[in-house]
Amino acid sequence: MKRPILIHPDPRLKKLCDPVADLSDDLRTLADDMLETMYDAPGIGLAAPQVGILHRLIVLDCAKQDNGETPRPLVMINPRILASSDERSVYEEGCLSIPDQYADVERPKMVEVEWLDRDGKLQKEEFDGLWATCVQHEIDHLDGKLFIDYLKPLKRQMITRKMVKLKRERARP
Ligand SMILES: [Zn+2]
Repeated sequence: MKRPILIHPDPRLKKLCDPVADLSDDLRTLADDMLETMYDAPGIGLAAPQVGILHRLIVLDCAKQDNGETPRPLVMINPRILASSDERSVYEEGCLSIPDQYADVERPKMVEVEWLDRDGKLQKEEFDGLWATCVQHEIDHLDGKLFIDYLKPLKRQMITRKMVKLKRERARP
């Protein structure tokens, strides 16, 4: 089932999320719903706070299906960055909670991430390129941080004003 995505500014997008204590069927349903919501958007990543759930859960799939890559949906529970490269890279980022706004963000080029998968199994993997950027962007959400927080204040305020306007328009009957 698709879930509505919160649009910035929203206090729930600024919260530090709680670790998941145990893997319930509700949590698995939430993960499945988040993947469906993400693919439908379409997007390459989604964090639980973006659907109003303040728990440390993200989903992502950066496989380039246009280029014939096989989909690779990842569910990450309590994801943790173990190591980041000194080498950095710049990607133009966007966010499903900040529709149609894009900006360059510099982040470590490679990260090693540990997480619990959908079955509660501990996983560890090194990500590079777009995957690395995406996983860092999604983990940031769990700490109440958005990609616009990396931008200069003026640019950030400009985007926030646009989102306030968008929300006002969407709320109109
Ligand atoms: Zn985002």
